[in-house]
Amino acid sequence: MGSNLLAMDCGLTEDLLLLQQTARDFADQVLKPGASRLDQEERFPQVHWKQLADMGFLGLLIPEEYGGSGLGNVPLVVVLEELNRACASTGVTVSVQNSLVGGPIVKFGSEDQKRRYLSKLATGELVGAYAITEHAHGSDAGAIETTAVRKGESYVLNGRKAWITSGATAGLVIVFASTHRGQGSRGITAFLVERGFRGLSVGKHEKKLGIRGSETVELLLEDVEVPAENVLGEPGKGFKLALSTLDGGRIGIAAQASGILAACLEDSTLYARDRKQFGKAIAEFQPIQWKIANMAVDLDASRLLTRRAAWLRDQGRPHTKEAAMAKLFASEAANRAATQAVQIHGGAGYCKDFAVERYFRDAKITEIYEGTSEIQRLVISRNVLET
Ligand SMILES: Cc1cc2nc3c(=O)[nH]c(=O)nc-3n(C[C@H](O)[C@H](O)[C@H](O)COP(=O)(O)OP(=O)(O)OC[C@H]3O[C@@H](n4cnc5c(N)ncnc54)[C@H](O)[C@@H]3O)c2cc1C
Repeated sequence: MGSNLLAMDCGLTEDLLLLQQTARDFADQVLKPGASRLDQEERFPQVHWKQLADMGFLGLLIPEEYGGSGLGNVPLVVVLEELNRACASTGVTVSVQNSLVGGPIVKFGSEDQKRRYLSKLATGELVGAYAITEHAHGSDAGAIETTAVRKGESYVLNGRKAWITSGATAGLVIVFASTHRGQGSRGITAFLVERGFRGLSVGKHEKKLGIRGSETVELLLEDVEVPAENVLGEPGKGFKLALSTLDGGRIGIAAQASGILAACLEDSTLYARDRKQFGKAIAEFQPIQWKIANMAVDLDASRLLTRRAAWLRDQGRPHTKEAAMAKLFASEAANRAATQAVQIHGGAGYCKDFAVERYFRDAKITEIYEGTSEIQRLVISRNVLET
C-alpha cells in the first residue's frame, strides 16, 4: 500500500498505531494471499482462527481477568478494518466473536457464565454465534416465534433460526426466544446454548453472493433443554440486550465496510497508475482521478464515524444513533467504492483474477446484516426527531 494511504490513520495513538501495524502485517501476509481461495472454497480455515486467537484478536472486549486483552471497541475497529481489508469473510467471523458473543457476555453475563465461557472465546476454543433472525422475522426481530417454556430448572426451546453466521461451527450460540408469548419484544429472553445440548442441529448451509468464506446456516431447535442458569441477562429483557449488542455489532460492520473500502482504494490506485490507454496511465484521466478522490474522502469519513461510535461505546456514553450513522455511511460508501473499483479496472475488474470482483460481492452484505440501511435510517431519524 502506498505510504500516503497508510498515513491516513485519523489521529491514532502510538499504541493503536502499533496494533494497527500488527493487524495489517498479519492481514497482508496471511489473510490476503488466501482470501480468493477461501471465497471459492467457501471454507473458513481453522489455522487462521488459531493465529487470530494467539494475536489476541478474538478477545478484544474480554477483560484480562477472563483471558482477553480488554482493549475495547476503538482497538477492535482498528483491527477489524485491517482484517476486512484483506478478507471480509474472516473479518465478519472475528466481528461476531467479539461484538455479538464475547461483548454481551461481558456486559450481561453472571460471574459463573463469564468464568465458563469468556476465556474459551478469547482462545478460540469456542466459536461463538448470535441467533435472533428467523425466516419470517428479520428487520422485525421483536416478533420472533422461537419459544422457550420453563420446565423446572430448565427452559425448553423450539424454533428455527435463519442466516446464522458461524452457526455450524459454533460451540456456543446466544439464542433469542419468546418466554412470555403475547408480550412481543417485551417477552424475549436470551439463552446461552451449547453445541452439545440435545435437539440443537444445523439446517441449510446458505450459498451466498459474497463473504462466502463465512459460514451462514439455519439452526434448528427441537425441544432443546437449556438450564435456567444459562439465561443471559434477565428473563423478558432479551430484546433490550439484543439491541444493545447490535449497537456494538453495527460498529464492527462499519469497520468491515471501511476495510473493504480501503482495499478498493488501494487496488484502484495501483491499477490506475499501472494501466495505460491512449499512451498514458489511466490515473492521468480526470474521471479516474475523481473516482479515487471520492473513495479517499469516503474512507476517511467512514473511519471517523466508526471510531467516534466505538469511542462513545468505550466511554459508556449513548451511541445508538452514532453506531447506526457509522454503519449506514460506511456500508453505502463501501458499495460506491466497490462499484467504482470495478469500473476503474474495466473488463479485468469483472473477472476473478482481480480482487475487486470479490470486494464488489462482499460489500453488499454490509448494507443488509445487523440492520439494513433502511433500518439504520429509521434508528437515526427516530433519534433526531425524538419520536
Ligand atoms: C450473510 C448473512 C449473515 C447473517 N448473520 C446473522 C447472524 O449471525 N445472526 C442473526 O440473527 N441474523 C443474521 N443475519 C440476518 C440479517 O440480520 C437479516 O437478513 C437482516 O436483518 C434483514 O432481515 P431480512 O433478511 O429478513 O429482510 P426483511 O426484514 O424482510 O427486509 C426486506 C426489505 O424490507 C426493508 N424493510 C423492512 N422493514 C422495513 C421498515 N420498517 N421500513 C423500511 N424498510 C423496511 C428492508 O430494509 C429490506 O430492504 C444474516 C444475514 C445474512 C444474509
